[in-house]
Amino acid sequence: MSWHERATAVMPGGVNSPVRAFKAVGGTPPFAERASGARIITTDGNELIDFIASWGALILGHSRPEVVEAVRRAASAGTSFGISTHAEVELAELIVASVPSVDVVRMVNSGTEATATTVRLARAATGRQAIIKFEGCYHGHADPFLAKAGSGLATFGEPSSPGVPDATVADTRTVRYNDLESVSEQLDDNVAAIIVEPVAGNMGCIPPVDGFLQGLRDLCDRAGALLIFDEVMTGFRVGPASAQGRYGVTPDLTALGKVVAGGTPAAAYGGRRDLMQMIAPAGPVYQAGTLAGNPLATAAGLVTLRYLSDHPDLYDRFEAAASGAASRLETAMVRAGIPGTVNHVGAMLGIFLGIEQARSWDDVADLDGDLFARFFHGALKRGVLIAPSAYEAAFLMEDHLNGDLDKALAALEEAIEEAAQ
Ligand SMILES: *Cc1c(COP(=O)(O)O)cnc(C)c1O
Repeated sequence: MSWHERATAVMPGGVNSPVRAFKAVGGTPPFAERASGARIITTDGNELIDFIASWGALILGHSRPEVVEAVRRAASAGTSFGISTHAEVELAELIVASVPSVDVVRMVNSGTEATATTVRLARAATGRQAIIKFEGCYHGHADPFLAKAGSGLATFGEPSSPGVPDATVADTRTVRYNDLESVSEQLDDNVAAIIVEPVAGNMGCIPPVDGFLQGLRDLCDRAGALLIFDEVMTGFRVGPASAQGRYGVTPDLTALGKVVAGGTPAAAYGGRRDLMQMIAPAGPVYQAGTLAGNPLATAAGLVTLRYLSDHPDLYDRFEAAASGAASRLETAMVRAGIPGTVNHVGAMLGIFLGIEQARSWDDVADLDGDLFARFFHGALKRGVLIAPSAYEAAFLMEDHLNGDLDKALAALEEAIEEAAQ
C-alpha cells in the first residue's frame, strides 16, 4: 500500500486540512520529508521551492537555525507547564508594541479560536447579535463564519457547511469585499461587528481599494459596531505593524496567527484595553486554553517577531521582490496570450490566470480550474510548489530572496506558457 493509500484509509481525504488533498488540481499530493530555507524535500526525493510556506505561517524560511534553536532550548526546559512563563509576557509585550490596535493580548492555539473569540467579545461588548463578513474572506472554521448570504431578502445567513445550525449563522450577514455600499445596506443597530481581512488572502491576494478600510472604520463608528481585523494571514506579513499599520486604520479588535507563532501552532487576539478587560478572568467573557501560551510556540513566535523587528528593511525587500515577481509573471501571461493579473502586498502574491482584475469575490468566482491545474502541475514538475488551489495566495519567505525566487520565476514563466497552450 502506498503512503497515500494508507493516509486515505485512516484520515478524511488522507489529510488533516482539506486543501492539502489536491482536490482542485488532481494528482497525488507529495509528503514532506524535511525542509530548509525556501525548499521542501519530499519523501520521493524531490526538492521543491515552496510558496505555500505552511499557508503563510513561515516568513523567515524553513528550519531557520535561530527558530529551531529557540524551540530546542524551550523543549529541554519543559514542553508545557500550565502556569505562566516569562517568555509569554515578552511575546505579549512585543505584539503590543508592534500592532497599533493591540493594548492587551491573549494567546490561543489557532486562528479559528482567535477570530471566534473576537466575535464573542464584540457581541458581549455591544449587547448585539449580528455580524457582517465579506464574501471570499475566510476566518477559520468556527460556526458563525460558515455562512453564505441567504436568498430572498438576504439579511439572514445560511449555513455553508452541513452541521452548522441555522440559528448560529442567521445573524451572519455576508457582503461584498471592496464595496462600502453593500456594507451600508446591511449595517444597522443589531450589528455587533464587521470582521474583515484587511488584505483578503483567502481568495488569492486582494488588496483593499483606497478608502475601503477607512470607510469601514467610519461606518462602524457611526453605527456603534466594532471593527475586527482578521490579520491571521496579514499580521507581520504585509508590514512591521501589520495591515493596520500599513493602511493607517485601527480596528477595535485584531486576530493574529500564522507568522505570530513562527511556524508552530499558536495564534492570538487582542485589542482595546477596555474590551480585552472583559475577557476572563479580568471580566465575564469566557475563553480558555490548556496549551495556550505553550512554551515551544512562544519561543518560535518570540524569536521570529524579534528578528522581524530587528530587520525592518526585510519588508522593503519583500515589497521589491513581490513587485518584480508580479511584473515578470504578468509579462509571461501576455506573452502566452492569456488574460491574467498578479496582485501583491508585502510578502503575499495573488496569481490570477484568465481574468483581468481581482477586486472582490465576483471577479474570482469563475476562475478557470483546468487552466490553473495545468499551471500548478507545470510548476510542480519544474520543482516549484505553489498552493494547490487558485484561491490561495503565494507567500514569500526571507530565504526566497537569496536566488530561489528567481529560479522559481523562470519555472513559473514556463509553466504559464505551457498551461496556455
Ligand atoms: C488561516 C486563517 C485563519 C484560520 O487560522 P487557523 O490557524 O487555520 O485556524 C483565519 N483567518 C485567516 C485570515 C486565515 O488566513
